[in-house]
Amino acid sequence: MSGISDSFQRPINYLRISVTDRCNLRCIYCMPREGVHLVPHADLLSYEEITVVVQAAARVGISKVRLSGGEPLVRLELTKLIEMLSRVEGIDDISLTTNGVLLKRFAADLKEAGLRRVNVSLDSLRKDRFQRITGYDNLVDVLQGIDEARRVGLEPVKTNVVVMKGINDDEILDFASRTREGWHVRFIELMPIGNGKMLQPEFMSAKEMLQRLAALGKLEPCLPPVGHGPAKYYSLPGVQGTVGFITPVSEHFCFRCNRLRLTADGKLLPCLMSDMEVDLRPTIRAGGSTEEVERLFRKAIASKPAGHNMAQGVLPHNRWMAQVGG
Ligand code: SAM
Ligand code: SF4
Repeated sequence: MSGISDSFQRPINYLRISVTDRCNLRCIYCMPREGVHLVPHADLLSYEEITVVVQAAARVGISKVRLSGGEPLVRLELTKLIEMLSRVEGIDDISLTTNGVLLKRFAADLKEAGLRRVNVSLDSLRKDRFQRITGYDNLVDVLQGIDEARRVGLEPVKTNVVVMKGINDDEILDFASRTREGWHVRFIELMPIGNGKMLQPEFMSAKEMLQRLAALGKLEPCLPPVGHGPAKYYSLPGVQGTVGFITPVSEHFCFRCNRLRLTADGKLLPCLMSDMEVDLRPTIRAGGSTEEVERLFRKAIASKPAGHNMAQGVLPHNRWMAQVGG
């Protein structure tokens, strides 16, 4: 299947799927401690329904999918979904974004089911602080999950760190030093979405993060470990691991956006930062064919905006990262 481009000639080949809006953590920038309004179980797409969506996606030329959430590993038997998706013709890369709490338990099965690689979100290497940021005492589990993912070959494991001034910015050097042990660390700018809206005084730009890293020596620009994401990568001299920066706020990458997002209840989102959505669930539940779902994909791709206007304060209403898959 040849690829599809949107109205701005951007090739669209990547679908991020939120498999659940449930989560076993409560990161301060993402979800309120009391949780968010959850989609009723009956409204979540089943694995069979997600597979129909991915078949339609593959027909328009999407070849890469990433499973996210909420926390994808809290959904029962996620390995089954991965097995089903790995059989879809045209899909050649299945990856996962997780908070890592349950990764040690599932890494080997995920690999066996066809998962290629994994991104683990981790904002502190200190036990007390991890608990303050996430609400739970799971740092050891996450670190063991990263080790296990590397051991079973879910490579490269990328560690995503949302940097917040006065909260974890003093750990930038500690995280970057882990690249000496082969870690691939990506520093992410805090976005004004979800609880991140309340943490704007804590925002830190990638430029400031990069300045802090000068203490470790000269960083050389380098190629990404794998993937075609929006990060810019660097490495320390003679070090195998990499340091990446994701700059959704200070330098947006809309001009090369290649993705669509699917919410856990079946809405296709052309842009993370817009309220626009195309609801696939009624068509799928009415027994619509893959061709009909494919038509909805084309509609979503055609309506992809040129870019977001976050800097001008234009933000999606009532949308949490846990609902749209980050
Ligand atoms: N639960 C999984 C996890 O934490 O990796 C997957 C879902 S989570 C919503 C996906 C990513 O979104 C995580 O890396 C998280 O740090 C990031 N994220 C959530 N809210 C954010 C915000 N306001 N600004 C920047 N990144 C955010
Ligand atoms: Fe859960 Fe991921 Fe949001 Fe943290 S960032 S609350 S782990 S969905």
